[in-house]
Amino acid sequence: MKKLAIIGRPNVGKSSLFNRLVKQRDAITSDQAGTTRDVKKRIAPILDREVELLDTGGLDKGCELFDKIKEKAVKAAYEADIILYVVDGKTIANDEDKKFFYELQAMGKAMALVVNKIDNDKMNERLWDYYEFGTDTIFGISVAHNRNTVKLIEWIYEQLPEDEGAKNKELQLDEEENDSHDYNLPEFNEEEEAHERLLTEDEKIAFEENDQTRFYDPERLNQVKVAIIGRVNVGKSSLLNALLGEDRSVVSSVAGTTIDPIDEVIEVGDKKVTFVDTAGVRRRGKIVGIEKFALNRTKEMLKDADIALLVLDASEPFKDLDEKIAGLIDENRLGCIIILNKWDLTDKDYEKFTEKVRSRFKFLHYAPILTISALTKQRVHKIMDKILEINENYSQRISTSKLNRVIELAQRRHHLPSVKGKVIRLYYVTQYDIRPPRIALVMNRPEGLHFTYRRYLTNKLREAFNFEGTPVLFHARSKKQRTIVSDEPNF
Ligand code: GDP
Ligand code: GDP
Repeated sequence: MKKLAIIGRPNVGKSSLFNRLVKQRDAITSDQAGTTRDVKKRIAPILDREVELLDTGGLDKGCELFDKIKEKAVKAAYEADIILYVVDGKTIANDEDKKFFYELQAMGKAMALVVNKIDNDKMNERLWDYYEFGTDTIFGISVAHNRNTVKLIEWIYEQLPEDEGAKNKELQLDEEENDSHDYNLPEFNEEEEAHERLLTEDEKIAFEENDQTRFYDPERLNQVKVAIIGRVNVGKSSLLNALLGEDRSVVSSVAGTTIDPIDEVIEVGDKKVTFVDTAGVRRRGKIVGIEKFALNRTKEMLKDADIALLVLDASEPFKDLDEKIAGLIDENRLGCIIILNKWDLTDKDYEKFTEKVRSRFKFLHYAPILTISALTKQRVHKIMDKILEINENYSQRISTSKLNRVIELAQRRHHLPSVKGKVIRLYYVTQYDIRPPRIALVMNRPEGLHFTYRRYLTNKLREAFNFEGTPVLFHARSKKQRTIVSDEPNF
């Protein structure tokens, strides 16, 4: 069986995480540093797999036992196949932690940086600090408030071999996140529901004959707001000029002058494409080096946008800031095109570059990548077509019957696994919102939907419908429930 070590300073929440994973309250949790000094061993069920947990003491240099504790931690790390390095998100990133993290990382094991005590949305920003550690495998969680622990469990699950622990069929899926979003789900009456799930084959065919796959709200479809975002000097303002087809670049600015955000609108047929805050895109030189300011401005732009053009400089290595900016697109659930600019300066190995982008920006897997040169205008003309296409995908409404047909076929191929001996039933799926598409899975036990099965269903939907460039949000809920609990991942 694979072994997992939970390592970190005292009081970061290791024992709490340990308890959460083994679901037993047998590691002592306390505010007093150093109470869980001894290495303990426990088997934890991770969905239908298992892992052996090694809990270790802290790593605090201030503690006189530090050398001993650290020695034990290193020993546990050597013994382990998977390492969770836990830090306290309420404190600022610490150089000693970083150093020790790198030491452990050098062992070449599967390792995640777990930033605990991210107790609410506001605290998500604390996470940026920890991107400094340079790892992609970072989880902002709150053990106490049960936030995002599902994502961490999913990651651990992926590190475990398939055949092991198969005997443990109990799914550990009673996670309930504390922050619930009210998305105003449509009301279903029982009769309609029965109708939806009891259609005969003939009825279904008749239903579909009058049915289109994509419906649009013309009012909203015809307006699309686009934000051009990226680090300083990647070519945002050059790209904007190329798109607008005229050179109005450098705005000379007197220090202290605030230029109001100005949007520029291009009309393409019946569509109005608005580039938001173009004054900000063009204001050059002012924000070099002030990362926080750049991020805040980007946040403001994205609040207002439907689609983000993430501009990356293909002529130099990607930076952490690229990732932070990209993370904001995911956070805002926006449509996205990844623009690899300065293509004229590269060796033009498309495969190599797209692979780099895909592995670094995993959460933007749905976004198409365009390689362009804002300078020579190579392929710039493709961007507008892509924007309009993604706007359609982002704004589409798929009929309940079409959706259910795909889901039914998928279920026939792979049945929904039952949980703790209880049958899990998926009554029907329905799209309840657009921009981006949000789909509710109406189930008898929404908490029993295994994430691998949810992923399977979303893959089937992505195969069946055109969701290129848009996130698709999937929410499992019961018939009664109108509020969505849990921060579902987007696929
Ligand atoms: P360890 O010394 O690393 O094993 O840390 P513990 O698990 O004993 O936790 C230390 C303290 O942090 C305890 O008071 C916990 O209740 C608290 N704690 C653990 N997780 C969280 C969390 O997610 N948010 C907050 N605010 N406190 C937490
Ligand atoms: P911004 O800070 O992201 O708005 O970047 P700018 O548009 O001001 O561009 C920064 C620098 O990169 C300028 O010197 C541009 O001329 C140059 N640049 C922008 N796009 C390209 C490109 O596609 N190829 C090359 N070679 N240079 C570019």
